[in-house]
Amino acid sequence: MTAATRGGPGGGGPQTGRKPRALTCPACGKRVTWEGNPWRPFCSERCQVIDRAAWAEGAYAIPSEDTPSREPPEKE
Ligand SMILES: [Zn+2]
Repeated sequence: MTAATRGGPGGGGPQTGRKPRALTCPACGKRVTWEGNPWRPFCSERCQVIDRAAWAEGAYAIPSEDTPSREPPEKE
């Protein structure tokens, strides 16, 4: 006789609570849903751009255009 031992009873993966992930837009603080949101974690493209710009300003600390001392054309 062959005792085919099957691993455990009928399957049944861990049930993952299906909840619409909600998050807060870091740019404007608006509540947005995670699913179906191409701009996550932002609420919209605008906020994404805004945040990126702000982030870039702080991270890169872009030095304002330091125009080299231009010597004005001397008058004749
Ligand atoms: Zn936003």
